[in-house]
Amino acid sequence: MPFSYLSHLECSECGKAFSPSLPQTICPDCQAPLFARYDLPSLAAQVPREKMDNIHSMWCWHVVLPVLTQEHVVTLGEGGTPLLKLERLASKYNLKALYLKDEGLNPTASFKARGLSAAVSKARELGIRQLMIPTAGNAGGALAAYASRAGMSAWIAMPEDTPKANVEETAITGARISLVPGVISDAAKFLQSHAEKGKWFDVSTFKEPYRLEGKKTMGYEIARDLGWEFPEVILYPTGGGTGLVGIWKAYEELLELGWLKNPRPPRLYAVQSEGCAPVVKAFKNGESDVAFWENASTHASGLRVPRPFAGKAILRTLRNSKGGAISVEEDSIRKAQKDIAQLEGIFTAPEGAATLAGLEILLAEGEIQPDERILLLNTGSGLKYLDTLQA
Ligand SMILES: *Cc1c(COP(=O)(O)O)cnc(C)c1O
Ligand SMILES: [Zn+2]
Repeated sequence: MPFSYLSHLECSECGKAFSPSLPQTICPDCQAPLFARYDLPSLAAQVPREKMDNIHSMWCWHVVLPVLTQEHVVTLGEGGTPLLKLERLASKYNLKALYLKDEGLNPTASFKARGLSAAVSKARELGIRQLMIPTAGNAGGALAAYASRAGMSAWIAMPEDTPKANVEETAITGARISLVPGVISDAAKFLQSHAEKGKWFDVSTFKEPYRLEGKKTMGYEIARDLGWEFPEVILYPTGGGTGLVGIWKAYEELLELGWLKNPRPPRLYAVQSEGCAPVVKAFKNGESDVAFWENASTHASGLRVPRPFAGKAILRTLRNSKGGAISVEEDSIRKAQKDIAQLEGIFTAPEGAATLAGLEILLAEGEIQPDERILLLNTGSGLKYLDTLQA
């Protein structure tokens, strides 16, 4: 049995195929992300889903991950995070079943570990040695960690007001750091104009195909942990949208593999802050792509992404899943963060807390019903945000 059933890469807009044996970025015709495709019929015929349980990290899903041989896997034990039932919070809102997947338990204390473990592993397999990334914070910390682990060089550009934990976790690895005025899009411009062409490989969200593959493992774990079905509703704090698109990709792959006991898709809801809600605005206006959000501002730094590169794929995912998008106030994020800690003992990242604030509104609007199974995605640990807690 092959370690991976990867077959090719495919443009998410025009469907053109690309070779995964070479370093790839985006489709040159569409300027759109490439998605990894697998030989799912052979996989379904050769490997039972129960076989996936024997490695204690997200690499238990190696057959649907892009790395071809185990020796290239760069791991710090990412994934395999708990799916917690929130009984006390559920009774506060009169909900039948409320869950939280706690990605704060990952290496580098955020789910960015999954994406960067996959991207750095594949880069190592392809012989790439130098990686660069513009980041709102957590992706930079994760790249720095995995690059060190792989013996590779990393250059990380982040806004100068990025949470201190992100700066320190990056600095201690010895990675090169540039603190840039503005937001993540300014950090991206900085690298584009300062990094020598062709010397540093760009692992920006969706500009290489493999971070998405790491993040999709959240979807595989959610389905497995709920007895091979998805909950009716998943709320996801959306910045660049990798997790959202990744969970939907997992759903589609699991459906094709025939591994789901119940084929009903989850409705995916993107949650953003009112200070930076480009996806919500585009969704509500019926647009097919996301426009740049001026003066983006939120203390949930992972949500401070004024224009996600994969806007079309994000909006398609929300519509295909029959979900939606909601923005929440900064104060309601802080209140939700306290509620989750007081009632459930989980110190979530503000991004994760935003999902509870969003749920409250969607319940009041009748968009989500109290008898549905609802899952909140907590994308990181609150401990990374100590300097932003009290504004
Ligand atoms: C990056 C990040 C997000 C946004 O994730 P995307 O998958 O890019 O939408 C949310 N929360 C935290 C803690 C993050 O670091
Ligand atoms: Zn294309």
